[in-house]
Amino acid sequence: MLRTHTCGELRITDVNKTVTLCGWLQKGRDLGGMTFIDLRDRYGITQLAFNTETNPALCEKARKCGREFVLKVTGKVIERSSKNKILTTGEIEIEVTDFDILNEAITPPFTIEEHTDGGDELRMKYRYLDLRRTTVRANLELRHQVSQQTRKFLDEQNFIEVETPVLIKSTPEGARDFVVPSRMNAGEFYALPQSPQTFKQLLMISGFDRYYQIVKCFRDEDLRADRQPEFTQIDCEMSFVEQEDILNMFEGLVKHLFKQVKGIDIENLPRMTYTDAMKFYGCDKPDTRFEMKFVELNDLAKGKGFPVFDNAELVVGVNAKGCSEYTRKQLDELTEFVKRPQVGATGLVYARVNADGTIKSSVDKFYDADALKMWAQKFDAKPGDLILILAGQADKTRKALNELRLEMGTRLGLRDVNKFSCLWVVDFPLLEFNEEENRYFAMHHPFTSPKPEDIKLLDENKLGEVRANAYDMVINGVEVGGGSVRIFNKNLQAKMFEILGFTKEEAQAQFGFLMNAFEYGAPPHAGIAFGFDRLCSLFGGADSIRDFIAFPKNNSGRDVMIDAPSSIDDKQLKELSIAVMKK
Ligand code: ASP
Repeated sequence: MLRTHTCGELRITDVNKTVTLCGWLQKGRDLGGMTFIDLRDRYGITQLAFNTETNPALCEKARKCGREFVLKVTGKVIERSSKNKILTTGEIEIEVTDFDILNEAITPPFTIEEHTDGGDELRMKYRYLDLRRTTVRANLELRHQVSQQTRKFLDEQNFIEVETPVLIKSTPEGARDFVVPSRMNAGEFYALPQSPQTFKQLLMISGFDRYYQIVKCFRDEDLRADRQPEFTQIDCEMSFVEQEDILNMFEGLVKHLFKQVKGIDIENLPRMTYTDAMKFYGCDKPDTRFEMKFVELNDLAKGKGFPVFDNAELVVGVNAKGCSEYTRKQLDELTEFVKRPQVGATGLVYARVNADGTIKSSVDKFYDADALKMWAQKFDAKPGDLILILAGQADKTRKALNELRLEMGTRLGLRDVNKFSCLWVVDFPLLEFNEEENRYFAMHHPFTSPKPEDIKLLDENKLGEVRANAYDMVINGVEVGGGSVRIFNKNLQAKMFEILGFTKEEAQAQFGFLMNAFEYGAPPHAGIAFGFDRLCSLFGGADSIRDFIAFPKNNSGRDVMIDAPSSIDDKQLKELSIAVMKK
């Protein structure tokens, strides 16, 4: 090896050793008599010292090196006169006796430091330089930890990692497929997997009763900050299990990861039904780091002559504890917030419970002191609290109040990235009605099993009431994993496709392979998949998954470094039997 040590390794106990280090020039400082260089590698930074008097030629050479030059230096470890307490190597430096320039570097387009001057787009274009920065590198190291610990845990539980193909046929996971033209089968296309769902089910039929895979999945969706067209799942499936077994096993995985990666002990995960999640938090992935549960007020709010409440399907609010002193300006801001199109409320009603116990509301005209007192009781609002209320069509109002609750949580500092609150959301509806298409869609996916006691509702055509054996793991308001007990009976699966609007022929053409396999002794099975990138970003205390992916795509799905996607030449198009497109 070219080096004897790394740049993060040497300590005061190494003084007097002769060492050779390799790395990148982070920064140089010329102090007349002495020249210093910070040499950086993956492991840290070590200071190099060059003495003008004792070795002028070497010093001259060092002065000519620019940022990001690749150096190999040999010298003696000595104690520093002025120590740097922040660096782990800060007590020593290397008195250089010899060095080689392994490679020169042109000036990087942004500073390779913790707080870089490079904007997002620039950093992505030169991602290989961005990855030299300690924070970004640390994110990938964390990702590596999470994957190693996942493999360790699942391996110890007897799971076998099996790779499934990437060139497949469309799987209906609810998103658009990426497709790949087949040269050898003119006019035909593969789809990239949205998940290995059908393959892992087939593996259960093959008898691999515990499968996992840390696997790339592809979904052609409009992108948001936390979405990438290609992302990674920890995909798992088990046979001869019930929902309870899956919840326990994967609660175990997540506890293991928290312990090993973060050093945190996680309590047993509470469970919340989908119905309760919607009722008390207005969403199916509640951020339970803080309470602020919804309180429904229809009984006390309606019939008092206030038309907004009288005409509303639902009057519902939250108690923002300790916010009674909010200024007019702050309340106006909140009103503006709820009226934003993304939130969609028409207005905001508030009631302050003053320090002296009196209550002042924005609708005093309609509600007297006694009425407001009853509100306060219902919200368990104490002096100093602020009640915030929205009204309107039930689903829309819950959705808007969810946004307001999260906004208040953020404003009140209740969403600490170093605090973790995990739970299972269970008993999801099997089907979801889509107004635009005027039909039901599978809420999870078409392979999800209805709860046995709800199967009769399918026959009674009460489709919206059927609950599924489906579950999500939610951490800090982020859905980190989701799965279900599967259908393993051909007739029930056929019925499910029928409900979803497939003709018999369509179902056979698309999923015949799975339904046929069900006839060869399919075991009961169930599974789950975790969003691996999201899990990593959560562990890293970041909002976006992008910084936990080595080479991510931007918001328009582009890789700006390699400039993909890109056009291909006519010859290649012809080979693929794709009509040549003129740009
Ligand atoms: N395939 C599902 C998904 O990607 C997860 C599962 O049901 O196991 O969401």
